[in-house]
Amino acid sequence: MATGYFSHPDCRRHDMGPGHPECPERLAAIEDHLIATGLDVALDRREAPLVDLRDVQRAHHAGYVAHLKDVMEQVAASGERRAIDLDTVVGPHTWQAALRAAGAAVAATDAVLDGELDNAFCAVRPPGHHATRAQAMGFCFFNNIAVAARHALDVRGLQRVAVVDFDVHHGNGTEDIFAGDDRALMVSFFQHPLYPYSGDQPAADNMCNVPVPAYTKGMDVRELIEMIWIPRLERFRPQMIFISAGFDAHRDDDLGQLGLVEADYEWITRRVMDVAERYAKGRVVSSLEGGYHLGALARSVAAHLRVLAGV
Ligand SMILES: [Zn+2]
Repeated sequence: MATGYFSHPDCRRHDMGPGHPECPERLAAIEDHLIATGLDVALDRREAPLVDLRDVQRAHHAGYVAHLKDVMEQVAASGERRAIDLDTVVGPHTWQAALRAAGAAVAATDAVLDGELDNAFCAVRPPGHHATRAQAMGFCFFNNIAVAARHALDVRGLQRVAVVDFDVHHGNGTEDIFAGDDRALMVSFFQHPLYPYSGDQPAADNMCNVPVPAYTKGMDVRELIEMIWIPRLERFRPQMIFISAGFDAHRDDDLGQLGLVEADYEWITRRVMDVAERYAKGRVVSSLEGGYHLGALARSVAAHLRVLAGV
């Protein structure tokens, strides 16, 4: 048994244009750091498959998926990028990357539930947690973690799954997909006010949101997690835990103004793993969301992976 590491070269071909922070170099920085630190040998590397669109349609409206496919195929044919909003851009390789990113999360879920892997991390892009049932936004097209969590519930027959989101931005897409679905509990913290300017008023009882002001430090976030997330997770007793693993709450990251460091990501991962070991047979699937300072991103992913892999 091992920690799976799902990725695919297609995820590096998605390119939203010069100077965009959600850039292909993010995955290269992670890969290079894993090799440089020797951590890669502790991981079971797997190629991310293309997602089955039936899985995508459990989290997204069929009409949205069809429209997105249409837009993406036009862009692929013309070779010209097309902006969906100010910062979410479709390029000629976006469709393949989006299919791989969601496919990674579903395949990781199956491998963990089948007992092939203890847990798994998906080093993929585009990220997913801002994608709602019917809207691409915030660099996201398919909500990879929501697609995987719905697969675990609807296809694999689990009754309770938790989604942990530690990205600096509120996971409004995941909230949109799971609000009021009592089979899921979402726990998150995020800087507020900050894009997408939501989450301060919880949408439903199964959304455990912890908005924090700019310049909050890691120690304060840890205390809030201990006081608010952990009791909710323990009462919920999830059978599997999904992590929207964004690393843009790092103090070096310019897209947010929180003060987390690598040791905080290690601590958060440990606490989530503790809950998973107690209630969920250790089953955790984590997927990359944000994280835009390349050095901080690579070091923080490594800290996260060291806890997942127990090395
Ligand atoms: Zn983010």
